[in-house]
Amino acid sequence: MEHDPVHRQAAPVGTVHLVGAGPGDPELLTLRAARLIAGAGLIVHDGLVDPAILAMAPAAARLISVAKSRSRHTMAQDAINALLVREALAGHDVVRLKGGDPFVFGRGGEEAEACRAAGVPVAVVPGISAALGAAAAAGIALTHRDAASTVSFVAGQCKGLADQNWAGLAGKGRTLVIYMGLATAAAITDKLIGDGLSPDMPVAVIENATRPTMRVLRGVLAGLDTIVASHRVRSPALIIIGDVAARQDAGQLAALAEHMA
Ligand code: SAH
Repeated sequence: MEHDPVHRQAAPVGTVHLVGAGPGDPELLTLRAARLIAGAGLIVHDGLVDPAILAMAPAAARLISVAKSRSRHTMAQDAINALLVREALAGHDVVRLKGGDPFVFGRGGEEAEACRAAGVPVAVVPGISAALGAAAAAGIALTHRDAASTVSFVAGQCKGLADQNWAGLAGKGRTLVIYMGLATAAAITDKLIGDGLSPDMPVAVIENATRPTMRVLRGVLAGLDTIVASHRVRSPALIIIGDVAARQDAGQLAALAEHMA
């Protein structure tokens, strides 16, 4: 649709709020996210956003799902950018709700750029990224003083695995958290062992972190692919690799007790 520049000046442009919805549990929203959702007229959300969070929107709010499949990533992203810009230029404030944090593998950077290029104001509300939610719920202290002094977040797909240089990110004293790594679990194992990692390095796979359906599966790097296949792990799931993955410092029991209460 063409926008008449004179008309556009007259109509106030809406703001696009890029809002992190956290890993699932609605209690893990920020106060600002909860307030924006409760006051929203329009919410554009990913597939990862928990239904319990969407239920916090006013009954009259328009909810648009832009859940995308792996194979249509790029095309869909352009369409999402265009949708946000179109709604804001039509004068609507938009709550763009994303799983976790908008700027951690959330493509929030591209959406912010598209809005700014079109003269649409953007505000970013951070969220608890899946790595932090999953670690807390599973009781894995990502940088436990006795076991790790660095932590890295990588994407197991998105850009080609072979093009990514993970050398030095995993190993003794280091924790590696892999987002979107289920489909490439076998290739990830080969890559890391090829980089010199021990096949016995502890791993944990955390599915549906912070949700009532959460599962935490532990093992060693050489068995990662088997864990994923034999337990039929489904997205969303995170893989944590490093000595911290063998520890349980707190968390899961408390989370389970709460879910049973
Ligand atoms: N912006 C999001 C990440 C989006 S990429 C964030 O900051 O968390 C999507 C990936 O995030 C999923 O494939 C999965 O690896 C991870 N993820 C998101 N929610 C999750 C959850 N509840 N439990 C486990 N992994 C999750």
